[in-house]
Amino acid sequence: MSSTDKPRVAFIGLGNMGGPMAANLVEAGYVVTGFDPSPAAASAASEAGVTPADSAAAAARDAQVVITMLPSGKHVLDVYQGTNGDGVLAAAAPGALLVDCSTIAVDDARAAADAARAAGHRAVDAPVSGGVGGATAGTLTFMVGAADDDLEAVNAVLEPMAGRVVHCGDSGAGQAAKICNNMILGISMIAVSEAFVLGERLGLTHQALFDVASTASGQCWSLTTNCPVPGPVPTSPANRDYAPGFASPLMAKDLGLAMTAADTTHTGTRMGQLAAEIYREFASGDGAALDFSAIIGAVRDDQNEGAAS
Ligand code: NAD
Repeated sequence: MSSTDKPRVAFIGLGNMGGPMAANLVEAGYVVTGFDPSPAAASAASEAGVTPADSAAAAARDAQVVITMLPSGKHVLDVYQGTNGDGVLAAAAPGALLVDCSTIAVDDARAAADAARAAGHRAVDAPVSGGVGGATAGTLTFMVGAADDDLEAVNAVLEPMAGRVVHCGDSGAGQAAKICNNMILGISMIAVSEAFVLGERLGLTHQALFDVASTASGQCWSLTTNCPVPGPVPTSPANRDYAPGFASPLMAKDLGLAMTAADTTHTGTRMGQLAAEIYREFASGDGAALDFSAIIGAVRDDQNEGAAS
């Protein structure tokens, strides 16, 4: 397909994730117009071949596909509506495919989809996992909430940015899958960290515990890929002073979204609640700039004043 056959893409939010994602679309031959209020983000994207615009609406004018990669649901809803109804929804071509890749609350995703459909567009939530490395390499996993009829068009435009695209259901289902997965991840990282610290105090080496648990029933991604102690998995952030990776504030954000969803659905998630509290505290203090596996430091500091002392 030549660039003239491809839909014209607007990319709103050109930060750590959106910048390299937009660059991969340009690389694949798409004509991409982008907007980000940060001059540094806008100029980095422009160097990668994205045509800069002065506003989100200007970027979206007559676009057939609008991709958003923004910090929160409020940003997405504001960008869609604009200040006086002059946002992306009014500017995009009729029937445009609006693909929101940000991680936002399920209710916000559904509200954004309702607004998009009311304005005559097609709405898709497609949050990602894979981090900045996956965004740069074009190997992100996309969790897609979309109508069946839109899947072909969604798959085509995500392809240059994706390693894997999973259709999870209709609007909001992609966000639901993302926060459920990350709730498992947050809880499991704390569990792995507690096991290493308990092992240390029992005289067990990190390597010995790793060799057992990584091939036994304790096996999980938090242990075998993002191992929170240096040594057993040389590529894990623990080997580079916990430089992210997946930063603790993003884990705190995702667990907060999961707990909001647990509240609205009256779901008992005691482990998720605890993990959310632990990461909220860590991310606002020592962990602010660290990978989420650095939580093991907080676990070590957390003395048990119980019966044995
Ligand atoms: P970021 O802060 O680097 O980028 C967000 C960008 O949005 C910024 O450049 C900001 O200037 C821009 N922005 C803010 N308001 C805007 C507006 N009105 N119009 C256009 N642009 C605007 O954040 P990020 O790391 O790129 O994350 C983006 C989203 O992806 C978040 O929802 C995050 O939770 C999710 N996410 C991030 C990662 C990761 O590893 N960084 C992984 C998975 C998902």
